[in-house]
Amino acid sequence: MEKLRTYSGKNVNPEKARPYANHHQFLIIGGGTAGITTAAQLKKKLNKPDIAVIEPSDVHYYQPMWTFNGAGVFHKEKSKKLMKDIMPDDVAWIKDYVVAFHPEQNIVETECGAFYSYEYLVVAPGIQIDWDSIPGLAENIGTKGICSIYSYNQVDYVYECIKNMKKGRALFTQPNTKFKCGGAPQKIMYLSTDSWKNEGILNGIDVKFTSAGSVIFGVTEIAEALQPVIKRYGIDVKLLHNLKEIKADERIAVYDIMKDGKPADEVEIEYDMLHVTPPMSSPDFIKNSPLADSEGWVDVDKHSLQHKKYPNVFSLGDAGSTPNAKTGAAVRKQAPVVTGNLVSLHVKGKIDENLSYDGYGSCPLITGYNKLILAEFNYESKMTPSFPFNQAIERRSMYHMKRDWLPMIYWQGMLKGRA
Ligand SMILES: Cc1cc2nc3c(=O)[nH]c(=O)nc-3n(C[C@H](O)[C@H](O)[C@H](O)COP(=O)(O)OP(=O)(O)OC[C@H]3O[C@@H](n4cnc5c(N)ncnc54)[C@H](O)[C@@H]3O)c2cc1C
Repeated sequence: MEKLRTYSGKNVNPEKARPYANHHQFLIIGGGTAGITTAAQLKKKLNKPDIAVIEPSDVHYYQPMWTFNGAGVFHKEKSKKLMKDIMPDDVAWIKDYVVAFHPEQNIVETECGAFYSYEYLVVAPGIQIDWDSIPGLAENIGTKGICSIYSYNQVDYVYECIKNMKKGRALFTQPNTKFKCGGAPQKIMYLSTDSWKNEGILNGIDVKFTSAGSVIFGVTEIAEALQPVIKRYGIDVKLLHNLKEIKADERIAVYDIMKDGKPADEVEIEYDMLHVTPPMSSPDFIKNSPLADSEGWVDVDKHSLQHKKYPNVFSLGDAGSTPNAKTGAAVRKQAPVVTGNLVSLHVKGKIDENLSYDGYGSCPLITGYNKLILAEFNYESKMTPSFPFNQAIERRSMYHMKRDWLPMIYWQGMLKGRA
């Protein structure tokens, strides 16, 4: 295809761009959990739809497995597959990176300087990890006891840190931004402490959970269920502690102590191991686009997932403005709403009013190497259990569901438009 000069930001001239743009009926930005699930469901719901996915990466990750990878349960290779192998048949994969949106003209612009026009657009590029926003983090991650399960490249070092820790202090952080998988900062902490407990060394390790939040978990029943777990491992919970700097050579973490949403004081805590859940935000190219809300997320209605200004644009997954927990489990419930509405819009000219996303999110809180509390909840932080038993109890069966069944459901069900 002819490479076009990249037009600057919003000033693209549609008269110049449109004749060169490749056109697709359904254009999906992002080949992650949300993008592939959406493509697979559209294929099932329509007869030979014309779908293209713009995705720069050669690999697709099942990120929920990174918690297990960091804890040494599976090798990290098990969390990835080649993009070409999971892309649904007859869906065009455009290996490129979107840089700008021109929704008035129904056009997106890519890094290569190409333009793609669409009838319907689905925006699903995930969340951006802002490693640089904490001085000392980006340049030292993977060394000097600083680790994170929030990157495929870092999970091996998390396990190395857990194994190397024999005594001293281990800090686990949670940021003051929105971030994916609200339970992951705690899951890796419980797995670490369980490992040290099994080794008989936990008494010599001071474990602190330092969170910028004001509660341990946003759903009351689950927060209460976690208290005995915290007690069992002797974890010191420090709320309203927002990590703002790492002095890596001295092994010191610097925190703002938050009050009424603002820094009120500062404290330094020494550590031997520091597990960081980094700050995150909407991807920059979304923030700087006409699709963004005031916080930078794709501005969609929280029930229909349709863009508030551009009716032929939808968003789901971590990049959307919906105030749910950012999880793959949420995508599983959002995708049928998006694809159902797209089909209805296409066939009947309006979205299906019977379809409504209720904010479902799920957090399988791994509390040890064979224990799990399955938190499922909606926009109102009300429990929405899938099983006919009290899920706010640690269960071995739920641990096996998460470890052995969910990956299979993901690869074979969700990404194939079946679950
Ligand atoms: C450590 C960890 C543990 C987790 N645990 C759980 C769990 O237990 N349960 C659960 O449900 N969820 C969990 N999650 C969260 C889950 O993985 C995400 O919520 C889910 O992947 C979101 O899907 P998405 O499609 O929005 O984003 P992603 O799956 O991240 O995909 C985004 C895609 O967009 C592409 N992209 C980015 N920028 C552009 C661009 N400019 N142009 C085109 N493409 C672009 C990316 O390359 C990527 O392929 C966890 C995540 C992590 C990191």
